[in-house]
Amino acid sequence: MSKHIFVTGGVVSSLGKGVTSAAIGTLLEARGLKVQLQKFDPYVNVDPGTMSPFQHGEVYVTVDGAETDLDLGHYERFTDAKMNSDCNVTTGKIYHSVIQKERRGDYLGKTVQVIPHITDEIKSCVHRLATDDTDVVISEIGGTVGDIESLPFLEALRQFAYDVGRENVLYIHLTLIIYLRAADEMKTKATQHSVGRLREIGILPDILICRTEKPISQEDLAKTALFCNVKKEAVFEERDVDYSIYEIPGLLKEQGLDDYICESLGLEGSGGDISAWHEVVERVKNPTRKIKIGMVGKYVSHQDAYKSVYEAINHAAIANQAKVEVERVDTELIEKDGPAGMLEGLSGIIVPGGFGHRGVEGKIEAIRVARETGLPFFGLCLGMQCAAIEFARNVCGMVKANSTEIDESTPYPIISIMADQLALRNKGGTMRLGSYPCKLEEGSLARKCYGVDLIHERHRHRYEFNNKYRAIMEQNGMVLCGTSPGGELVEMVEVKDHPWFLGSQFHPEFQSKPLKPHPLFKDFIRAALEFDAAR
Ligand code: GLN
Repeated sequence: MSKHIFVTGGVVSSLGKGVTSAAIGTLLEARGLKVQLQKFDPYVNVDPGTMSPFQHGEVYVTVDGAETDLDLGHYERFTDAKMNSDCNVTTGKIYHSVIQKERRGDYLGKTVQVIPHITDEIKSCVHRLATDDTDVVISEIGGTVGDIESLPFLEALRQFAYDVGRENVLYIHLTLIIYLRAADEMKTKATQHSVGRLREIGILPDILICRTEKPISQEDLAKTALFCNVKKEAVFEERDVDYSIYEIPGLLKEQGLDDYICESLGLEGSGGDISAWHEVVERVKNPTRKIKIGMVGKYVSHQDAYKSVYEAINHAAIANQAKVEVERVDTELIEKDGPAGMLEGLSGIIVPGGFGHRGVEGKIEAIRVARETGLPFFGLCLGMQCAAIEFARNVCGMVKANSTEIDESTPYPIISIMADQLALRNKGGTMRLGSYPCKLEEGSLARKCYGVDLIHERHRHRYEFNNKYRAIMEQNGMVLCGTSPGGELVEMVEVKDHPWFLGSQFHPEFQSKPLKPHPLFKDFIRAALEFDAAR
């Protein structure tokens, strides 16, 4: 039978519940346990797929094509667990399912209510992950304790322990100990209140993990323990890290968090070697070279909008033992002021995914400069589409070439809507989503990077390279280096005679991990370092 860990958050949002849950997964896996992770999001959208990256940050895509919260990216980067559509559950998804059952007549005769029908549905989502081969299911509850919208989730988790036995469940509360500069004091009151709210609901946390910017004294830890009714040895400190989030597993292990969890849950797990993670941190701390990469996108002001891309860059930097500074280049500024000044001092550019027309011309201009000057270029999804458009316009002479997403009446629709998208009316969950195979061209840069000729990568798009233009683009030197196995869809492009110019219709960033950097990012950073050295 699987054991369960529920992670709640207190005092404020953005404490890093996702990373902490993921790091707990790292520690348990290191002890030989099989973990699965899950995120509950209390908002009413069925999934984050229709939300703006400004609102919600990146939409993380799972192998099976679910559009999910970016915390699932942390789960996959920190553990070997494979995320699927059951691993992210929102209020919208719960209600959607309950209402469908009600319409079908599954509850005939009954009044359908939050308790028990909604809470039952939530509990069934937890049970679904507790498969025979899973030792521990870690479920993170989004939002902050005290929010109205997370109440049904917390109630369901309270009931959960009642159903399966208290000894099989561990409640971990991630909270904030506030440092008051003016008084030069650490304040535990907000944490006390937050735990108080949990107790009102009937949840007594077993473990507190205290986020803090300053070290917490033994006295304050003891006080927090006493006032929150948690054992002193169950209060852990999670101080802001200096270099990287990949320090967190080590930080928590040092204090014996994994021992405490295993003991409490009666788990056997042994060992617990996390030296590979220490090695990652050592590499982050001791880079031998430093370069700047440009992130040319429209959501650059939002820290989380390209989360997995930033992380994939970090992993590639670690693999190359380099420090890579990411300069965020706003494409709308390129449109206004031209690309020259904006790209100065950069050793490579990445054009990430996106939707809609805003900033696209700036991206195309930046790509032109990269192509003409030998600056390493890596295009992801929309970034690849822009590379194809740029090539059509400036090399093949197809003036006003475009994607029909941007200009419906373009004379050269180099990128056009996928045939099976035409009839769709609903916007949610209807893109080409999830993992698809891709065949790589012998002798291409892509083939060289991956070292194999068939790969699987995750997609999230409605538009694609228009096959009508394959011949003319190839005649002019664009290499269609990756296609679907039957050759129907163009998935990757390169240009000849350029040190590193590659675009992928898929999102390779979703598969990169610190312990397993993605081959394309790794080689892109290698090429950028080479570009920098030659300058
Ligand atoms: N907007 C483009 C499409 O739908 C690209 C999507 C993306 O970059 N994820 O095809």
